[in-house]
Amino acid sequence: MTRAFVEVRGLRVVYPGGTKALRGIDLDIEEGSFVAAVGLSGAGKSSFLRSLNHLVRPTSGSILVGGRQVVAARGGDLRRVRRETGMVFQQFNLVRRMSVLRNVLVGRLGYHGGLGAVWPRFTDTDRQLSRAALERVGLGDRAGSRADRLSGGQQQRVAIARALAQQPRLMLADEPVASLDPETSLAVLSHLREINQRDGITTITALHQLDLAQRFADRVVAFRDGRIVYDGPPHGLDESAYGRIYRAER
Ligand code: ADP
Repeated sequence: MTRAFVEVRGLRVVYPGGTKALRGIDLDIEEGSFVAAVGLSGAGKSSFLRSLNHLVRPTSGSILVGGRQVVAARGGDLRRVRRETGMVFQQFNLVRRMSVLRNVLVGRLGYHGGLGAVWPRFTDTDRQLSRAALERVGLGDRAGSRADRLSGGQQQRVAIARALAQQPRLMLADEPVASLDPETSLAVLSHLREINQRDGITTITALHQLDLAQRFADRVVAFRDGRIVYDGPPHGLDESAYGRIYRAER
């Protein structure tokens, strides 16, 4: 049997203070798939994504990405895990006063000793990859603009280019369109989907709009109160599944 690209076993996240964000998640994700994580606010989607990228340290459980341990990774292994995982956030997280190109070059830092290092001497390859990533999201002509001159949708496309410049094997997006209007949301998700399909980059995105999950994802994983309450194709989301995900507790 071939191994899944992402293998999550018994993943628990309990925050200081006692909030149980994830209560023992088991999940396999095939390489190249596009997975939408859905569920109410507070269901655990973000804790799940952040565990995959080592931004949250799980209380227990294991995560393998491309055969590499994530939870236990240290030093060089941790750098590799982070470098191979691109992440896009709801609030874009660009350096507002820097140029668009410089923001995308930030995606190359993992190849130069990591974040926290002094601003490195980027190579021609770094620049070529960054410019190519900007072209992919349709912003090749904005390389020299200051990041905060761009619209929200354009800034999120820069954030996608920055993640792509990392040459990731896994792309994570945490509510990437929650701050955007519907039309812009479609454009941003189309870019993520195009990159997933053309480059085969496994993509997991948290989305709170079920209609967008159904439109873009191969597979929907729904969280509720730290557990998975639906896992299957978008068209399998029937009324019963919908109730498990969203119905108010009585
Ligand atoms: P979602 O992404 O589905 O909204 P989260 O993973 O952000 O869910 O949150 C799951 C639960 O964990 C919520 O109850 C939230 O309040 C709590 N939580 C999230 N982050 C932290 C944190 N850093 N410290 C304490 N509690 C947190």
